[in-house]
Amino acid sequence: MIVATGYQEFDASRITHFGYGKLPNVITSFEFERMVREGRIETAEERRPQYAAILHCVGSRSLEFHAYCSRVCCMTALKYAHELKSAVPGCYVSDVYIDMHAFGKGCEDFYRRSSEVKTLFIMYGKNDYPVIRKAEPGDDCEMLIEVSEQLSGERIEIPADLVILMVGMEARADAAEVARLVRISQDKDGWFIESHPKLDPVATTTEGVFIAGTCAAPKDIPDSVAQARAAAARILGKIAKGIIEVDAVFAEIDEEACSGCRICNELCPYGAIEYKADVKRSRVISALCKACGACVAACPSGAIRARHFTDEQILAEIEGVLA
Ligand SMILES: Cc1cc2nc3c(=O)[nH]c(=O)nc-3n(C[C@H](O)[C@H](O)[C@H](O)COP(=O)(O)OP(=O)(O)OC[C@H]3O[C@@H](n4cnc5c(N)ncnc54)[C@H](O)[C@@H]3O)c2cc1C
Repeated sequence: MIVATGYQEFDASRITHFGYGKLPNVITSFEFERMVREGRIETAEERRPQYAAILHCVGSRSLEFHAYCSRVCCMTALKYAHELKSAVPGCYVSDVYIDMHAFGKGCEDFYRRSSEVKTLFIMYGKNDYPVIRKAEPGDDCEMLIEVSEQLSGERIEIPADLVILMVGMEARADAAEVARLVRISQDKDGWFIESHPKLDPVATTTEGVFIAGTCAAPKDIPDSVAQARAAAARILGKIAKGIIEVDAVFAEIDEEACSGCRICNELCPYGAIEYKADVKRSRVISALCKACGACVAACPSGAIRARHFTDEQILAEIEGVLA
């Protein structure tokens, strides 16, 4: 099974001083994407924006919301600046950021070219969010953005008719339910955990369950596709032989001794023990068992033992060593 359930966008209205949901010309990156798709970049008053501002790290890299970087927003913001400049000639674009993360092929070059086409880059401090407010009558714009600019140390005001909030990615609200269903784990931010982040990034600790894309962490489309292909290849590698090899060591339940208490059912981290209601006994699905021994230790009737690790076999080994 490949789990590829993706992410959800951060709810921008949680940061009240951005005015999202109250100021009609403060929109999210998703809403801007829709405008671009429809070929209609304009304000709520159906005017072409003279001043546009793109605000980075909305919900990301913050102590209050998500400490992690959402990874795709910086490059996407630069793309939006280009789209604004080409769709609305003469539009002044301000890019209000914390740090510019232009990693990857061609990205630094794209950043440099964005500066050359006169996108104005303004740096704000982590956890020192800009404040967006409605402009006064007579001001030449719809809104003003107050920013503590980091390089000069001054508090400045940026004019804007349209503000695009680069909302971060977060784990889906139903991720815990999915994790419970397929028996995989989540990290403190709700992302699904891989077997090993560097050496086994698409496997999980549950045999046969793989993860791909942004359900594991924020990433862009090329990385999501690469992971999906890796997960598919891992599964093909397993089934292409026509047989699946499993470990020789797994737990076994003596059905005569099993009381049907079901303690082992709940305890097994791999979902390898099922309850047979017709005979009121539990049974190990050997292909799923990882021989961790948790059920062996917990069984109050002593009905479970690990194959090849019975008391008699271990005692025989000790006697052999001592002989
Ligand atoms: C504002 C913004 C702009 C972006 N722009 C770019 C860009 O320009 N270039 C780029 O490379 N990347 C960009 N990205 C990142 C890109 O969106 C992700 O890399 C990509 O969508 C990840 O794909 P995914 O399949 O992991 O997740 P998703 O695209 O979220 O797809 C997951 C799918 O699983 C479905 N699903 C969820 N739960 C279940 C379930 N329980 N059962 C069945 N189906 C389920 C969902 O409905 C969805 O269809 C951007 C991201 C953001 C936030």
